[in-house]
Amino acid sequence: MTTRLILLASFIFCLHSYGQQSSYYLTADRVFDGESLHENWAVVVEGNRITAAGPKANVKEPAGATRINFPNSTLTPGLIEGHSHMLLYPYNITDWDTQVLKETDAYRTARATVHAKNTLMAGFTTARDLGSEGAGYADVGLKRAINEGIIPGPRLLVAGRAIVATGSYGPKNYDHDQQIMLGAEAADGNDLVRVVRDQIGKGADLIKVYADYRWGLNGDDRPSFTLDELKLINEVTRSSGRVMVCHAKSKEAIKRAVLAGAETIEHGDDLDKEIALLMKEHNVTYIPTLAAVEMISQYRGWKKGVSVEPANITNKKRSFKEAMTSGVTIGMGGDVGVFPHGDNVLEMELMQEYGMKAFDVLKAATSVNARAFHLDNQVGFIKTGLKADLLIVSGDPSKNISDLRKIKFVMKDGVVYRNEK
Ligand SMILES: [Zn+2]
Repeated sequence: MTTRLILLASFIFCLHSYGQQSSYYLTADRVFDGESLHENWAVVVEGNRITAAGPKANVKEPAGATRINFPNSTLTPGLIEGHSHMLLYPYNITDWDTQVLKETDAYRTARATVHAKNTLMAGFTTARDLGSEGAGYADVGLKRAINEGIIPGPRLLVAGRAIVATGSYGPKNYDHDQQIMLGAEAADGNDLVRVVRDQIGKGADLIKVYADYRWGLNGDDRPSFTLDELKLINEVTRSSGRVMVCHAKSKEAIKRAVLAGAETIEHGDDLDKEIALLMKEHNVTYIPTLAAVEMISQYRGWKKGVSVEPANITNKKRSFKEAMTSGVTIGMGGDVGVFPHGDNVLEMELMQEYGMKAFDVLKAATSVNARAFHLDNQVGFIKTGLKADLLIVSGDPSKNISDLRKIKFVMKDGVVYRNEK
């Protein structure tokens, strides 16, 4: 055969394999569809979509489909991480100030590609990234590389630089003769209009605002923006079709954020009955970030189960319980980056440990997050027509959430990234 013929033959082969969509017929002992658990179900994937899901008797296996089945397994929607920082890595390896101030964006982005991969391989097919912490718009670039298939990673919703009030955020306490780069973009008053628009123009999918920070007289969490400033940020953000999400720990900051129109409250450490009911009334989702507080306490020397529980953990437990009791919508987000990317399930384990049923924790990281982030017409459920983001684990995570660590299979957008033999 001449070279030209070989080329022609391989070209035709390529066309053929491109035209022929790959299809999968997946079965498992249990199928969790985002809201309920089913037995004897089958799921069909064709191309990048779920084309059938239901009782085996009603689901036709496509001819030539690849069969996927693991013994004693549970099939779930790909998990959704609600609060990550792809550009950060654990503070016990390198403290936050050093990462922000001394590491180049190129170095941090190189690390972030690995973080993205680890996140996806852990079964998290979607993640919100809530601030690059001094790495500019590296998250926007990271998202593009993932979307173009250059590197493996979760589908990302990114915040870009995030917004802080002047004087509130770190790195702090350096000689004021020198201009110190902050972990987010400072803006105040009417200038917030320009900054929100600029962040949107540079690729932010949502606007992340620090509604408070530990800049009180004794380093306590105090509101940073006024209610009017938050309303202004929200108004400009909304008119672009995006949403405002707020870091808020103190009661007053949560209250202002909710009244200004925030869609999610991140951390919410001092949530009480009054605040919980306000959040519920305004249909605001609570993202607890339990794991960040636990891990930072451990980095500071707390020995879990041995030494006395630090006050910030006792607080967090109280807030989490109050949110559950008051019926606040609780999503899942761990502030991962503070602890290792790929260990995202730690947050879910703590949610169970702090009193939430494993089944509800599973819902939080799938259907609840999908609805809270306006992604429920794409992901978070196993339903005909949705994107084929699927996870298979051994065991039953609806009873024991740690079974999510026993990963057998990960698919995102119809592409298999993990398939353990
Ligand atoms: Zn965070």
